[in-house]
Amino acid sequence: MEEKSWSYAQHSKPFKYQEGNLTVTRGSAWSGPGCHLGCGVLLYTDENGKLVKVEGDPENPYNDGRLCVRCLNVNEVTNHKDRLLYPMKRDPKDRGKDKWERISWDEAYDIIVEKFNKIKDEFGAETILFTQGTGRDIAQWISRLAWSFGSPNYCYHLSGAACYLPRVAGMAVTTGGYWVADCSQQFIDRYDNPQYQVPETMFVWGNYPLTSNSDGFYGHWVIDLMKRGMKIVCIDPKVTWLAARAEEHLRVRPGTDAALALGMLNIIINEELYDKEFVEKWTHGFDQLKERVQEYPVEKVAEITWVPAEKIRNAAHILAKSKPATMQWGLAVDMTKESLPASQAIAALFYITGNADIPGGIIMPPELLPYSGGFGHDLLSPEQAEKRIGLKDYPIFQYGFQIAQPDAVQKALETDDPYKIHAGWFQTTNPIACVAAQPKRWAEAVKKLDFVVFVDIFMTPSIMEVADIVLPAATFPERDGLRVGDGVQRGEVINKVTQIGECKSDMQINLELGKRFNPAAWPWENVQAMFSDILKPTGFSFQELQEKAPAYMPFTYKRYEKGLFRPDGQPGFNTGTGKIELYSTFYEMVGLDPLPYFEEPSPGPGATPELLEEYPLVLTTGARIWSMFHSEHRQIERNRAFRPDPEIEVNPDTLKKLGIKDGDWVWVENERGRAKRRVKGTPVIDPRMCSCDHAWWRPEAGPENLYDVLDLNINNLVPWIPGKSGFGSNFKTMLCKLYKVKEGE
Ligand code: SF4
Repeated sequence: MEEKSWSYAQHSKPFKYQEGNLTVTRGSAWSGPGCHLGCGVLLYTDENGKLVKVEGDPENPYNDGRLCVRCLNVNEVTNHKDRLLYPMKRDPKDRGKDKWERISWDEAYDIIVEKFNKIKDEFGAETILFTQGTGRDIAQWISRLAWSFGSPNYCYHLSGAACYLPRVAGMAVTTGGYWVADCSQQFIDRYDNPQYQVPETMFVWGNYPLTSNSDGFYGHWVIDLMKRGMKIVCIDPKVTWLAARAEEHLRVRPGTDAALALGMLNIIINEELYDKEFVEKWTHGFDQLKERVQEYPVEKVAEITWVPAEKIRNAAHILAKSKPATMQWGLAVDMTKESLPASQAIAALFYITGNADIPGGIIMPPELLPYSGGFGHDLLSPEQAEKRIGLKDYPIFQYGFQIAQPDAVQKALETDDPYKIHAGWFQTTNPIACVAAQPKRWAEAVKKLDFVVFVDIFMTPSIMEVADIVLPAATFPERDGLRVGDGVQRGEVINKVTQIGECKSDMQINLELGKRFNPAAWPWENVQAMFSDILKPTGFSFQELQEKAPAYMPFTYKRYEKGLFRPDGQPGFNTGTGKIELYSTFYEMVGLDPLPYFEEPSPGPGATPELLEEYPLVLTTGARIWSMFHSEHRQIERNRAFRPDPEIEVNPDTLKKLGIKDGDWVWVENERGRAKRRVKGTPVIDPRMCSCDHAWWRPEAGPENLYDVLDLNINNLVPWIPGKSGFGSNFKTMLCKLYKVKEGE
């Protein structure tokens, strides 16, 4: 790419400068800790190289100087006394015990290389699993490590890959890409850009962006746009701050979003409120969709969803009338078992109303660099690629998706089917506290492995329970890195400003280990050279981008008319039919229903009414905490002060019936298990349901109690049952009962 086509933020100072006796370094934030949004930060270090303060960068158009507490408090995390500081090993017979021995990096690498190569020679490279969590910018590096080693089994260990990927997958196969809300994030001059138009209405669907700031979407853009006149419609079972200010609030029963969207489609299609010209010219399968939505008349949908018919009608009319309308959605869609048809139905609302690729509608940001979803899959031989776990049961994973299917991986760990897994590489993940459903099952399965390596920034219950080697990773102020993708096509860098103990960045660890396994696949001398090489198509070296970032690509709307979405340069979309597929030829090919549908979450009030007597409440889990990111931050005093204990939100009327008081400790229980929570009585929750936060453990409880993780983890109640496609899982749609914790429990 020609450098002249980029736009840059105007910086009044170089990326590193002095302020009194402090050095200030401009850069971008990427977990850990925190999240992987990439807000612009100013990192302040003292004369000893200690990180002493973090501020938002007012010259960064993305967050405009604003930061949430997770970034404002990064210095406390980076400098925390409990950081892992050097590599450690433990005899596998001592798994679960605090019996670690300090070793050097060389010894750690030697052990890993020897063990992995021995397993590869005896059983095949595919018997080593490479798995990551959501954070720390490592998808590209861990996947390359797996593929260059010869293992096709790279994944994140979350049932149904039920975070972000179902929505990405669902949109990619039906439209050729992933659509996000147009909040002007693609323009350096943001809301003032002459091409941009403020949306008339934003549908905030199944997430609370002000706390989650998920997947490239900075939550306060919603407020910025509301200040500029945008209205919102909230689809959320809870009365949130945003819901209280919404034009319409649909308090949907968890897990019924697909039915709601199909009901709204029914109204928009039957009342002929859709964009006829767009539908005619640019979509495929409208007649079949029209037929399908007849199964979802609004009265029936009202019964399913708990949302009154009048409100559904009103929301459909607001959408049809708003020019333009946009949508910000989230995990409630992914964390439903049949998440693909749910995302298909919701997205169809915005396609058929003509909101795709227009100012203030939904946009498809082009990939800044081709590496963001992983690079190096071609390093795998075709024979090895075919051994990827889950391909047989979930054929959709063969096309464009390079991860092993997580539920099939769990099954392989437990039953050795299709083959026995012998070792595991776990990087940026704490499954026993966070991603793993039924965490005890996960731990027992992983303990069967011959050899387990973890990479993390703190000791975690997962490491304590199952690891043989642990490598200390850097927090983002301790490392260099690149930040691209996720809803905004801009180039950002992460800049190293400090060093703690012997910690290394994830990329450095993967590069150094990759060189030992397969030097030809890792030819770079250091991480900066690796980044510069990856940046080549942009015309920047890593060092140049440090000075100039953030750098923005040019952007135009209606790219489907200009042939910019298809590799052949023809107008249209990058799908089999060249159109947005309301009827998916791709789903048809892999044996899935080509049209969106709703299936009752099971167990649930609709699917298993007989269970309601024992488990009368609908349970939704995973409510985000402002000061914490998944299982992180539990040992950080200032962040923990915002939420000292795990919580369950319950309506006061429900509490009264159960004889439970606000602040009591309760067990939340279903047929699979139970977890402890402190009760927060609040009318924002419907009396028929309750809502929990997730990923809890207590570092202060000590390793002998496994940091209380098995008492506190709400995933004790979650099954390993994905949707038919292999995407989606019921994290947010279960039944449960509540009862008081007895003294001593
Ligand atoms: S959203 Fe918050 S934690 Fe995430 S990068 Fe921005 S300030 Fe940091």
